[in-house]
Amino acid sequence: MTDHAPTGDLPIGRGLLGRCPRCGEGHLFHGFLDLRPSCEKCGLDYGFADAGDGPAVFVILIGGFIVVFAALATEFAYQPPYWVHAVLWLPLALILTLGPLRPIKGLLIALQYHHKAREGRLERRGEN
Ligand SMILES: [Zn+2]
Repeated sequence: MTDHAPTGDLPIGRGLLGRCPRCGEGHLFHGFLDLRPSCEKCGLDYGFADAGDGPAVFVILIGGFIVVFAALATEFAYQPPYWVHAVLWLPLALILTLGPLRPIKGLLIALQYHHKAREGRLERRGEN
């Protein structure tokens, strides 16, 4: 690891930008959430990357908390008609779930690469 993009020095920055966790220059995604098979710059195989349901869980918990809190606060403060809630919170829920999904997936994959996290494997006795 020698040269880096300005914001790509940390795995966190690389992941949030959707860049390769090793070189910080290649792209991680093609399409909205589909991973490339490997980095087009350094050739890192993305086969290790499996964020699973992690991004969706973070997005649902954080976005859900924000939307429900805002809706409850608005209801208690102003008691607006129900259509106001629909107009306010449905678009906000979409923005808060679709917006951070890709950066969070990139972040989790970058952290997975950085910490060399992988699936647990059973060790056989007598072999090392
Ligand atoms: Zn790369």
